[in-house]
Order: sequence, then C-alpha cells, then structure tokens
Amino acid sequence: MKRAYNFNAGPAALPLEVLQEAQAELLDFQGTGMSVMELSHRSKDYDAVHEEARMLLREIMDIPDNYDIQFIQGGASLQFYMVPLNLLAEGQTANYILTGSWSEKALAEAEKVGKTKVGASTEGEKYRRIPNLQELEISGDEAYVHITSNNTIYGTQWQQFPDTKGVPLVADMSSDILSRPIEVERFGLIYAGAQKNLGPSGVTVVIIRDDLLERSKDSLPTMLSYVTYGRTRSLYNTPPTFAIYMLGKVLRWVQSQGLYNITKLNETKAKLLYEVIDGSNGFYRGHAEPESRSLMNVTFNLPTAELEQKFLAEAKEAGFVGLGGHRSVGGCRASIYNAVPLEACAALRDFMLVFKARH
Ligand SMILES: *Cc1c(COP(=O)(O)O)cnc(C)c1O
Repeated sequence: MKRAYNFNAGPAALPLEVLQEAQAELLDFQGTGMSVMELSHRSKDYDAVHEEARMLLREIMDIPDNYDIQFIQGGASLQFYMVPLNLLAEGQTANYILTGSWSEKALAEAEKVGKTKVGASTEGEKYRRIPNLQELEISGDEAYVHITSNNTIYGTQWQQFPDTKGVPLVADMSSDILSRPIEVERFGLIYAGAQKNLGPSGVTVVIIRDDLLERSKDSLPTMLSYVTYGRTRSLYNTPPTFAIYMLGKVLRWVQSQGLYNITKLNETKAKLLYEVIDGSNGFYRGHAEPESRSLMNVTFNLPTAELEQKFLAEAKEAGFVGLGGHRSVGGCRASIYNAVPLEACAALRDFMLVFKARH
C-alpha cells in the first residue's frame, strides 16, 4: 500500500497513526464487541469518548473554564447563520471583516438575520492580503466582530488579531485551528469545521464564552441555539459519534506531538514551498502578499493557463493529490495542514523545482 501525497483542502489528510488506530478498533472498540459507530450515544463507553475529546481540546488550546466546547453538525456553513441568529439582537450591528469567499458567505447569512457592516475588505485587491489592524473600522458598539483567521481559498492568514474595543471577536478557524497557539481569551466565539485540521467531516467545534450564551433568545429553534448544546454537553440529540471519536484521536495525536512542535513543523513545511515560489524568478507566482501568507494553504499561479494545466496533470501523474486551486479562483494550491508530513512537502518542492527547470 502506498499513501498518496495528499494536499486536499478539505476533507484533508489525517495522521496515519490515527487511521491505523481506528482500523484496529473498528470491529471491537475497547472490548465492547462493537464498533464505536454501533454504541449508544447514551452509553458510558461513548460518553468517555465524548468527554475525552472535549477535555483534550481544552487542554491543548488552554481554553479557560468560562468557555463551553460544543460539537455541532452542519459544518462551518451552519455557523455562518447560527452566529448571527444567537448573537445579533435587534437594533445591533454585526461587523464583518472580509478577507475571502468564506467571510463573504458568513456576511451573507448575517444579512438575513439583522444589521451588518463591513469593517474592512481586501476584495479590491483580490484578497491577496489581510487588512492592517489600523485599517479596521471598529466602533466599539457592535454585537460582535467576525473574522476568518485563515483564508483557505486565497492562502492568507491573520498574523495578529485585532483589538476590538471590548466587542466580542468571532473567528472562523476552520482551516487553521490547532496549527499554532492562540489566546482563546481574545475571542468571544471560535468555530471550526473538523475536516481540515481536526478530523473527518461531520462535526464542527464551537468554543463559546459563557456570557455570550445568555444572548440566545428562548424562541430560537432548539437545534440552532448554543444554549441547547451547552445545557446538554452537545448530547441533546444523537451527535456525530464516529466523527467525534476520530476528533478525539486527532487531538491525542496533537497532544503527543506537542502544539509547539506542530507549529514549528508547519513553519518549516510552508517555508519549503514559499522558498521555491520566491526563488523561481516569477515562474511560480504566489497569490498572497508575503506578510499575509498562510502556513496552511499555499496558493500560486504559473505563467500561463496552459502551463498550469500541465503542472497539475504531471503532478497528478507523479502521485500528488489535490493541487488544483479552488473552483472559484483556479491556479494551484497546496493545503499543508497539520497531518501533511514534511516528506510530502519536500517531495512537492522537488517536483516544483524539476518542473520549472524543464519549462
Ligand atoms: C472549509 C471552510 C468552510 C466551510 O466548511 P463546511 O464545514 O464545509 O461548511 C468555512 N470556512 C472556512 C475558513 C473553511 O476553510
């Protein structure tokens, strides 16, 4: 068996050890004689899995006690609507910083719920950069300020987070959660679909500060209220048990590697590829401006569309998977999340160097 060089943007590569563990336990989870998929979500065995995942995330991210950790279905895309539904009251305004397609989508959902404004946008520059902190218009009386910490499609990432004058900062961290340490205290709410850095698709992690739970109106649909998940430890109805089990395994893997080491490795991996781009005399053209570059998604173009097609075809032939840019922007993109090994990035670097030399 040969594992692919997997640069998929999401669902994405998982640590080999995690897959092997899941394989070994598939038919008989810890002596139960059942797969974890077959356990009752009300059983003690499943409850231990559920609680361990929450506990590990709290430990690794150093999440303070006044934040609840929730597991919700519907992807990050449902959070685009749940955030304003729960946090944006009548008469208030939500502030969205636009740094790419995902922030645009989040804003579009908020507009269905209430009043919004755009505190900054780099759309005019094809989302090549994150706005400077001085460019942000935050008045201080908004319901919240929403950012996308890593722009999966454009390959940009916030390097510093804004001071929001006491307004809760809400972040979509789907594509860079656990890629680097962050200060959770600076955020009111963090959400992330699991399928990039945390596990398989099917579960979305929400980290919400307790005081924000008080904003949800009682009249909200039960399944769309953060209060429901908070009250029941995300066990109001059947949670995505297998996805949470896999999330727990990925978290244990992160803990064993150490978040510090993972961050360093992510920097090394990204550097391998950005150095090829920067040293290519314009053959490879990075989409993101250097100071906004993402450690998770490396986006680039080639001199012509024909060469891009050739690059992608030959890369595929050579065993590289998922290097095509998002359908909305084209070009090339290497997604190098936590579980993508250094060797895969080194192999891609070598391939890029050889391809350039031949063309
Ligand atoms: C992938 C992604 C999404 C969409 O996630 P779904 O779980 O498919 O809804 C949203 N935001 C960001 C930043 C993403 O990378």
